[in-house]
Amino acid sequence: MRDWLAHRVAASPDDEALVRAEDGEAWTYTDLDRLVSETAGRLVAHGVEAGDRLGVLTPPYVGTVGLVHAAMRIGATFVPLGQELTPRELSERIERADLSAVVCAEPTEDDALAAVDGIDDTPLFSVDDPADATVTAVHDVEPASVEPPEWEFDDHLCILFTSGTTGTPKPVPLTAGNVYSSAVASAFRLGVDPGDRWLVSLALHHMGGLAPVYRSALYGTTLVLREGFDAGGTADDIDAYDVTGVSLVPTMLKRMLDSRGTLSDTLRVVLLGGAPAPDELLERCRDYSIPVYPTYGMTESASQIATATPRQTRGRLGTVGRPLFGTDVTVVDEDGAAVEAGETGEIVVDGPTVTPGYLERPPAPDEDESAAELDRSAFGPHGLHTGDVGRIDEDGYLYVLNRLDDRIITGGQNVEPGEVADVLGRFPAVEAVTVVGLDDETWGERVAALLAVEDGDEPLDEAALDSFARERLSGFKIPKTVAVVDELPRTVSGTVDRAAAREMLRERGHALNGSS
Ligand code: ATP
Ligand code: MG
Repeated sequence: MRDWLAHRVAASPDDEALVRAEDGEAWTYTDLDRLVSETAGRLVAHGVEAGDRLGVLTPPYVGTVGLVHAAMRIGATFVPLGQELTPRELSERIERADLSAVVCAEPTEDDALAAVDGIDDTPLFSVDDPADATVTAVHDVEPASVEPPEWEFDDHLCILFTSGTTGTPKPVPLTAGNVYSSAVASAFRLGVDPGDRWLVSLALHHMGGLAPVYRSALYGTTLVLREGFDAGGTADDIDAYDVTGVSLVPTMLKRMLDSRGTLSDTLRVVLLGGAPAPDELLERCRDYSIPVYPTYGMTESASQIATATPRQTRGRLGTVGRPLFGTDVTVVDEDGAAVEAGETGEIVVDGPTVTPGYLERPPAPDEDESAAELDRSAFGPHGLHTGDVGRIDEDGYLYVLNRLDDRIITGGQNVEPGEVADVLGRFPAVEAVTVVGLDDETWGERVAALLAVEDGDEPLDEAALDSFARERLSGFKIPKTVAVVDELPRTVSGTVDRAAAREMLRERGHALNGSS
């Protein structure tokens, strides 16, 4: 293959590639291709070449979309860097991914400068006019002519860092084949309409934001680009630009609904993932006929692993659906052996969308490139161990419960906090719940639940909750300690702050009625 934009512009030159939400300006594929060949030509004139790893620290500009395709046109690996990172974190990433050059913009120039300070030979380019003389303006030179290279499926298209929830973010190379297969498998599940317009509201340095950029060029559909998320503004853009698809994390969707009541009926797909979707949110969407597709994915699999259609979620609250076409999901026990349907274990994923391995370190000059570069220690016979716990029911539907790290071991028995939280969350008065383990002299750990009950509601009937739980869970899974709050503590990204929850339970937890 050549770069995908080159194929796309040949196939549908006059179709709309991109719309900028801020002012409605639009680019056809021909316009975008012109921008990309100019950017690529200038980078090449500055010495960027095929095989380089190009770091990109720019806001979600149209120019950033251009850089995604420009890297591919040059034959370079695209390595997006998050604007929220500190210069120190940026330097660590620049070194870990062994970047050949970094492109910044006016708003990110200071951070980029501080980040490359002390790193030898990492040229810094700016797409805007640089304020500092050590930064080179990309537009300073005449574009060189670029001979678009042939891409093989195994070539590294991009390198993304994981979110760092369970430790230091890991650099994940995704091959052209990974991203291509993911686009194909996603289309098989969600469908593609030539008139589709996908709004990008997730950061472009995570797969949820970057995948639609590659996919829109592959599909020949339109990308609606918005600089940053704002609940009301994003909802309004969906309406204003007849958006048909959007990827959101549950907290974003909830804030959009809180702000605007419902969402535009132009939407065909709301791809909802990144964290478990609360039942209450899913029910609210059902009431408004919002087409929610719950999805489970990760950086290492170029995004979606499994996705449920709205119809499939009916009667199967909490499922993320069946694995995508081509993706194999196996649930395994502690020895790595596949478990029976319905049993809980670690989720292992395999297939063409899965990274060939984590980037470990740059290869030494005398080492075999591929062997030295990749860390495959998380791979077993069934594929990549995700570190997530879940189960697959008899009908093949996947449920994601929690991270392996969050598993509670009480009296030698494993308890998945997600399973307990699912049950407690169905008790009518409980709005939201998180389940954690607390240190316990007798049991090693004991199950504890922080329950959010809406302000102004009746006090929680703990005896009724206890019998409700006992009907549905084995005795050792029933929380020994509970505390009731108005709202669960949350991190800035909107996920439950488990450490804070644990602290609250330690301070004000009491025995759940009837538990021993
Ligand atoms: P790190 O790997 O550095 O700890 P991370 O796993 O949070 O960070 P990402 O690749 O951005 O980095 O996130 C993928 C993870 O997000 C999944 O492994 C899973 O834990 C979680 N996740 C994604 N979708 C869902 C979902 N629908 N339900 C529950 N969890 C989900
Ligand atoms: Mg992870």
